Amino acid sequence: MIHLILDTNNWIYLANSIDPLTENLNEGYHFQLFEKLKLKVREKAITILVSDLVEIEWNRNQNRCFALISKHKNRMKDDLHTIDRIDRVLQSEFHDNLLDLKKAYTKHINSEIEKNQVHIEGVGRLLGDSIKYTATLETKAFASDWAVEKKAPFTGDKKNSMADALLLFSAIDYIKEVRGHYGSYPTFIFVSGNKADFCSKTSGNEIHEDLKGMVDEVGINFFLSLPEALKFVDNTLFDAAEIEVMNDDIENFRTRRFICQHCSEDDDPDGLNFIEFEEDESVVDSNAPYLDPSQLRLPFDDVVREKDLKVTILRGYCFHCETEHIKCNCGTVTMIDVFENGFECPKCGTTYLKEKLPMGDRKDHSYKLVSPEELEDSYYT
Ligand SMILES: [Zn+2]
Ligand SMILES: [Zn+2]
Repeated sequence: MIHLILDTNNWIYLANSIDPLTENLNEGYHFQLFEKLKLKVREKAITILVSDLVEIEWNRNQNRCFALISKHKNRMKDDLHTIDRIDRVLQSEFHDNLLDLKKAYTKHINSEIEKNQVHIEGVGRLLGDSIKYTATLETKAFASDWAVEKKAPFTGDKKNSMADALLLFSAIDYIKEVRGHYGSYPTFIFVSGNKADFCSKTSGNEIHEDLKGMVDEVGINFFLSLPEALKFVDNTLFDAAEIEVMNDDIENFRTRRFICQHCSEDDDPDGLNFIEFEEDESVVDSNAPYLDPSQLRLPFDDVVREKDLKVTILRGYCFHCETEHIKCNCGTVTMIDVFENGFECPKCGTTYLKEKLPMGDRKDHSYKLVSPEELEDSYYT
């Protein structure tokens, strides 16, 4: 019997029903991962332990999962309105076809939503049925001292280091406590993808030197990803290629989420103050040579140049305050002021100008690359 501890991110990833890349509701890797995990729990190969801190975070994040589902419900409503509008414009010429289309579309999305609701509830049940452990006052005091000494996981400036520390330290306390029951230390696995907090530059994918002593003492096996941990439990569960795609998927999920720069968790007790970035958007350089689309394109130099002068950005909106955020081509996220004409990336200095879009959608503007002078000038015109 192996005891497994997952950090909050792993639980959220398991429950998350939205493909982080396409934003589609789909049967992504988290579905497969969850099935394998459940199987091992059923076979009694694994017992899951859950910290009270993870439980609190989970309750917050469960709302996030459902928020994503409601987002899709809203999108479906908009799409159905569009079909109705098309129907009116075409004056019943395609009415029956459009009605069929609406029916098929609604049925498809509803069954996807249903599947995902069942999935999230299933993950919640697994978490609820797991063994709970809590951080004692002594553990909290110990973690505070550790923080003062700036030892891992308190090496960066990330604000969730305390939660990370308590998750691990209280797990170690728990393991020491149950030792009496088992006579020796049972096998424990601790999974956290938080490499910045738990690993050092020199330790690679192994646990940070500051933590190695206490982790080794009770024989905890540390893994950065759940698929790798499950392979440790049963090496027939995944092959190397599967692990690689799953790890990429988890990484994408982690990096596409971003805490809102405008509001904080205090503004929204449901913890919806985060941004999930949407599909890539191409941003064209307005100073690239103009090409007439009706003209025959020949492989001249400037045709190639135009393609090079396109960058990709990601756009997302806070679920709580709706503030738009743009992830620049360089990876830096900037909060967008609705009253500004554009923005300059604080890291790489790329200057973006808003361009009005005709539709009355939330995305009422796109972006184009301009020179810093053009952005400046736009404020005076
Ligand atoms: Zn916000
Ligand atoms: Zn940038």
